[in-house]
Amino acid sequence: MTARIDVVSIFPDYLAPLDLSLVGKARQRGLVDIAVHDLRAWTSDRHRTVDDTPFGGGAGMVMRPDVWGQALDAVLDPGGGARPSGRVLLVPTPAGEPFTQRIAEELAGVLADGGQIAVACGRYEGIDSRVTEHYAAHQDVQVREVSIGDYVLNGGEVAALVVIEAVVRLLPGVLGNAASVVEESHGADGLLEHPSYTQPPVWRGLEVPEILRSGDHGRIADWRRERAVERTARVRPDLLAAHPATVRAARKGDAEVLADLAAATFRLACPPDMSEEDMAAYVREHLTLERFRGYLRDKHRWLLLAEVAGAVVGYTMSIAGEPVDPEIAAAVPTRPTAELSKFYVRAALHRSGAASALMDATLATARERGLPGIWLGVHGQNERAKRFYRKHGFARLGGRTFTVGSRRESDDVMYRTL
Ligand code: SAM
Repeated sequence: MTARIDVVSIFPDYLAPLDLSLVGKARQRGLVDIAVHDLRAWTSDRHRTVDDTPFGGGAGMVMRPDVWGQALDAVLDPGGGARPSGRVLLVPTPAGEPFTQRIAEELAGVLADGGQIAVACGRYEGIDSRVTEHYAAHQDVQVREVSIGDYVLNGGEVAALVVIEAVVRLLPGVLGNAASVVEESHGADGLLEHPSYTQPPVWRGLEVPEILRSGDHGRIADWRRERAVERTARVRPDLLAAHPATVRAARKGDAEVLADLAAATFRLACPPDMSEEDMAAYVREHLTLERFRGYLRDKHRWLLLAEVAGAVVGYTMSIAGEPVDPEIAAAVPTRPTAELSKFYVRAALHRSGAASALMDATLATARERGLPGIWLGVHGQNERAKRFYRKHGFARLGGRTFTVGSRRESDDVMYRTL
């Protein structure tokens, strides 16, 4: 049985776009049967009235249940048994449940099994509430009131177009490339999509990221995942609740990931007035792939990676051993000791829980190594980081100065027992 969609509206012409593009093609190819009906066909008075004033008073008009009942009985034929695989009465309303990709998938499932969706497009103040109540009581009709967003439209037609387009493109055979559905925003991984680029490689001075032209598919997949996680964290942090941060020890093969991450995050800990050149020079000299390879071989160091949804978003590096700086060595009260030397999380992920997970794992590893205390240096002006360290039990022990490029900088030295 062909999937069937009926739309009932007082403005059937509003639904004309259903003849166009992919939905229009799907109809032509017989993948879905869509019919648009004029609600006024079911009125019985001379003026073809569909609305009346609200009981209880108030502004605006409400659509009459008797007219809607006639229309929906005709369109849905409840109890008629013609659609054993499911009948859905879909009512767009700003007071409905938020329409999501999950609901689109459920509705596409109903259609793919030869089911039916009838969309009732309200106008004015909406449809008399007894209409949904009545059809919800029918065993073979599922009523779904959905909102396409937190704003108010004049009528349900645009919402109907939104829902139908989102659902029909999921039907088997409608899209040429089925993989494009899987890889999109709001897909199975619950992330927004990574940014996309095509020809030309340089446009108005803006270059396509070099990695996408590298041909290295493994690194491209990692890069896309990182960008997807970053974008989701920035734009829709609520979606990341489904992806708690995890922490693991860095392995030999992670040197490249670490060097990339270190280069991308180093500036986060720099004072705001530090020059690009100074920062770039520091990254070139100190945060190289070779350095990280060496760090990963060094038994006195432990490097941890934080991952969110499979993307590396932060790292720490700690070093067990005597502080090189004699002043710090004199100030640190316990022996043996360790330095939390690097602690970086991508800016967009600062509120994702990744930093706390990294800190917990870093301190736990220090305890496992039998270390009674750990110290760190944090830029004196980096109030955000200092707050974070204080929250995790560190207190100020003293200060130190160091050089980045041409500048003298000063750090706070902080310490905590374990
Ligand atoms: N009085 C209604 C309320 O406050 O919930 C608003 C009615 S609205 C002016 C008229 C019609 O537009 C609704 O019955 C519904 O069909 C449609 N509509 C408006 N905003 C919508 C939204 N965000 N999502 C889905 N449908 C919407």
